[in-house]
Amino acid sequence: MSVIYNRVALIGLGLIAGSMAHAMRLHGLAGEIVGTARSAETRETAAKINLCDRIVDTAAEAVQDADLVVLAVPVGAMGAVAAEIGPHLKKGATVTDVGSVKQAVIDAVGPHIPEGVDFVPGHPLAGTEHSGPLSGFASLFQNRWCLLVPTANSSADAAARLRALWEGMGANVDEMDAEHHDLVLAVTSHTPHLIAYTMVGVADDLRRVTDSEVIKYSAAGFRDFTRIAASDPTMWRDVFLTNKEATLEILGRFTEELFALQRAIRTGDGEHLFDYFTRTRAIRRGIIEAGQDTEAPDFGRSGTKE
Ligand code: NAP
Repeated sequence: MSVIYNRVALIGLGLIAGSMAHAMRLHGLAGEIVGTARSAETRETAAKINLCDRIVDTAAEAVQDADLVVLAVPVGAMGAVAAEIGPHLKKGATVTDVGSVKQAVIDAVGPHIPEGVDFVPGHPLAGTEHSGPLSGFASLFQNRWCLLVPTANSSADAAARLRALWEGMGANVDEMDAEHHDLVLAVTSHTPHLIAYTMVGVADDLRRVTDSEVIKYSAAGFRDFTRIAASDPTMWRDVFLTNKEATLEILGRFTEELFALQRAIRTGDGEHLFDYFTRTRAIRRGIIEAGQDTEAPDFGRSGTKE
């Protein structure tokens, strides 16, 4: 594949930026990758594994002469980073981000983008429960969706080039507006994470089941919640603080449905339970048909060493 941006600056060197660095290198999409992170420890680790062509100490330094700047820090930190880099951006550059919430990032970053620079927010729908500079891998975005959320500051050319980069890293790309993005993600990601955090917290509180039993018998379903609930606390705190309205709306609907199921259990309404579970099973089938998960039993883990 050919180079899409001559110089890419990665601000933040965790799972997402690290995976982008690996994928851009594998597919030859960037002439040079410059990276920076807040802590010296992360910068040193990234340098040790040769994650980027150059690691520099500050975000202001990293964006010098960059054609694409990727903000890959927690959503709550985007505004401060944008304020730091704003005066140092090259005319004609594109700034994007990978934050899990879009309207809050647009509000925080938008005002710091100078004239002559395009701002094209983005969000790759791919991740793991791991974080930090060692957690990235080149195939993270393969066959996953990346949503672009163009703003008034995004030219069609800049959006098309960014789309080409994500496609070059193996992703499928769609565009949508920020409000819709935040609602869709509240359903597909944010509320499920909150439920997983809650379920793991409940099991932790429950004294009737000892800790060792919870761990020993976790394959009965609990294990899948624990994977999600192991996700980075800073990232997820910021997601809920910034996607408040949509998450609360979906949580409201969730509790109504939960009460209905609770009532069906209490009253022995097997028909309600059966119909409900039949409907949800069809959704799982749809995800597999769309190529977004494996059909193998237990997510393909059976018989594999973890
Ligand atoms: P990560 O692995 O935890 O890395 C976060 C990076 O941000 C680190 O380099 C960290 O620097 C830096 N950072 C943290 N707090 C900061 C602050 N206050 N100011 C400046 N830099 C700060 O995170 P990630 O999973 O790559 O997530 C990055 C972004 O991608 C987030 O906005 C998240 O919402 C989004 N995202 C995540 C996933 C996922 O599943 N993980 C999926 C899609 C999108 P130090 O290491 O020096 O502390």
